[in-house]
Amino acid sequence: MDPLTTLGAALAAAHFGTPLAYYAVAKRWLKTPWRVKPDPAYAPAVTVAIPTYNEARHIEEKLEDIYRQDYPRDRLEIIVVDSASTDDTAERARRWAAAHPDADVKVVEEPQRRGKASALNTALAMARGGVFVITDADCRWSQRDALRRAVSWLADSAVGAVTCLKKPAADGPAGVEAGYRGHYNVLRLAESKKWATPIFHGELAAYKTELLRKIGGFPLDIGADDSHTAAKIAAMGYRAVAAEDLWCVEAVPHNGYHRWRIRRAQHLLQHFLKTPVEEAPPPMRPILLAEKYLHLANPWLLPAAVAALVAAATPPALAVLATGAAALVFRSCRTWTAAQLYLIAAAVKNLRDKELVWEKQDK
Ligand code: GDP
Ligand code: MN
Repeated sequence: MDPLTTLGAALAAAHFGTPLAYYAVAKRWLKTPWRVKPDPAYAPAVTVAIPTYNEARHIEEKLEDIYRQDYPRDRLEIIVVDSASTDDTAERARRWAAAHPDADVKVVEEPQRRGKASALNTALAMARGGVFVITDADCRWSQRDALRRAVSWLADSAVGAVTCLKKPAADGPAGVEAGYRGHYNVLRLAESKKWATPIFHGELAAYKTELLRKIGGFPLDIGADDSHTAAKIAAMGYRAVAAEDLWCVEAVPHNGYHRWRIRRAQHLLQHFLKTPVEEAPPPMRPILLAEKYLHLANPWLLPAAVAALVAAATPPALAVLATGAAALVFRSCRTWTAAQLYLIAAAVKNLRDKELVWEKQDK
């Protein structure tokens, strides 16, 4: 075979082979025991922080959602931190609080929009709970015991942080969103069983408050505040896990789906660039190494392989390309390819703008 065809085939094999190999390893981790024990009776004081920017459409339903939780109300503090919304989010939250005197709701209005992480730090500074939970205004906890389930894992002294698994509320174009989630939930759980998952979800992430304070709160220089704090807590030697029995429904934007995926990918890349493998405890290192490689480097092998095969234009090169193109009839292949393109676009966009303060998308 000519060298270009060989190069293209080798790049393609590496691009698809590495994640498949990691998935196979993850499936093995998935079969191992947790080695930590949730305690369903554990019910410490909890602070739930809801950062909001223009969430008038969602805030009341969100508060209602938390209010409906079966968690003891006298041990539940809710802090809404609104960053200068141009709609009436804060006013609606205040009105809701006044109408529910049995709920401990504080509404903080920041005079200026400084981003989600800054708002979370404002809430952290005033939180009274031993557990600090963050949640987006535009997602729902469909399980009435979601909070109890999340907190139960923190009863174990080895666990520092807990997050949910995700189900999309709607499917993205060409069935991409649901396919993406199924695969990633397996990875999140497997990594959690091994030690910790470096990807947390803002729909529901619960942390031991003292650990969050110890690491200095949420990072202001990168996005992915949820994941980065969890990875730092894992680096301190604690487990940071996605719980197997905890599901959140995630709002998927009606418009601007691609832009949304790219912005989220930008934040993940920032997080992985800033998370050193060497500082993690030994069982966490293979996880971080794999996820860093899969996010930062592996996506680029795909266009490189295509370019080499196109340039080679030999019959075997064209056969590989045709097979790849035909495989796109399968949803999993479209999902995969889309994710690679989002990561590549995100890396390029990160050079110009980190999107730490982003446009609100309609969900
Ligand atoms: P997505 O879930 O990644 O699409 O991000 P969202 O746009 O839904 O934002 C996540 C949460 O952070 C939502 O509750 C937003 O209202 C909130 N948020 C976003 N930017 C800011 C901000 O600048 N300040 C505050 N306080 N909250 C924000
Ligand atoms: Mn959201």
